[in-house]
Order: sequence, then C-alpha cells, then structure tokens
Amino acid sequence: MNIILLGPPGAGKGTQARLLEERFGMIQLSTGDMLRAAVKRGEPIGQEAKAIMESGKLVPDELMIRMIAARIAEPDCAKGFILDGFPRTVPQAEALDAMLAASGKKLDAVIELEVDDAALIERVVGRFTCAKCGAGYHEKFKPLKQAGACDACGGKEFVFRPDDNPETMKARLKAFADQTAPILPFYRQKGLLKTVDGMASMDHVQAALVSILQ
Ligand code: AMP
Repeated sequence: MNIILLGPPGAGKGTQARLLEERFGMIQLSTGDMLRAAVKRGEPIGQEAKAIMESGKLVPDELMIRMIAARIAEPDCAKGFILDGFPRTVPQAEALDAMLAASGKKLDAVIELEVDDAALIERVVGRFTCAKCGAGYHEKFKPLKQAGACDACGGKEFVFRPDDNPETMKARLKAFADQTAPILPFYRQKGLLKTVDGMASMDHVQAALVSILQ
C-alpha cells in the first residue's frame, strides 16, 4: 500500500505515519526528516536547504523531486510507503504521478488531516524528540514522565527543531495555504482523497486511518 498523509505543519502527520509504519510495515518517507539528516551530515543538499527551512519557505521542487525519486526506487519501498511532507506543491504531485507510473506503482489513498489553524502554532511550539530513538514529546501536551529522560529509551538528549517557533510557523502555514492546499483538488478529482479530523485524539486519528486503509 502506498499512501500520502497531507496536512499543515503540526497536523500530526509524522506521529501518525510512525504508528502506521509499526502497524502495517510500510516505510515512512518524511522529506523533512531527510532534509534535516542532510543538514546534519553537511551534505550539499542540506547546505542548500538549511536557510530555506529556517525561513519556513519551501525547498525548490526540482531538488525535492530528485530526492524522493531516489528514495522510492530503493528496495525497502517495495513493501509500500507513507509519504509524510511530500508532495507539497502541484508540480511535485504531478512528478510523483509520473515516477510511480514509470515504475508500475500506484497510490492507494491520500489522507488529509484537517486541523484548526489556531491549534497548530500551539502544537508545534514546545515539541521535541529524543535524539536517540526519535520518540516525540511536547512541553505542554506530552511532557516527559521523568524529567530529563526519554520515556521510551532513557535517552538524555533531546532535539527541538529550529523552525518550530511562532514566527517561522506563520511562514510555514502560509506556504501550506498557498502552495500545498491546491494539491487537494488534484487528488479529489482522482477519487483518492479522504479527510480525517486531525483535532481528535492521537488514538482516534489512528483508528480513523486504520479503518480507511483496511
Ligand atoms: P517538515 O518536517 O515536513 O515540516 O519539513 C520541514 C521543512 O523542510 C519545510 O518547512 C520545508 O522548508 C522543507 N520541506 C520538506 N518537505 C518539502 C517538500 N516536499 N517540498 C519543499 N520543501 C520541503
């Protein structure tokens, strides 16, 4: 099964993709995570993307399309994938269609997580992950059970994303409204689009996704 999770930053795409990955065994492909890894490793793509990501704008289509085309061609994607953060523009959606058609693959569903704009800044500012295992937390909504230690692995280092601040979030929300939301009619026309209430609890959202996919 190949699916896309669509939604603004903070809608819960990453959290839900990880849960679906555990449940169904498809691979989560987060272009944001790939870019952050490239920045960390000092790769040329990372150097090109770093300032753009920190501004909240979108990285050029050509670079993103090249990155995802290479990743989808890897053998582990044969068991299915969950795209989280791609496509983010209509040209990216069209390029994805073309690359899937060329490799005999298809999309099974495109699921939009619908969330109130007002809730998004609150959800994103204050979130952090364990540097060791990637478990996600939030200072207000999901604090560590024991201060300074990851609930899942005991790790003691945590990562806050530099773009999870109120000012950059405004630019990210604008990029979503202007450049990503126009993708919705593209997939609606193809009969692939499903919408889930992303304001529900994490468990409810997961249950809604599972019932769509089963
Ligand atoms: P995310 O982790 O999905 O919120 O992505 C973080 C940042 O990476 C975004 O704000 C963009 O600057 C960049 N980015 C990630 N995926 C894409 C994409 N498909 N197209 C353009 N820029 C992207």
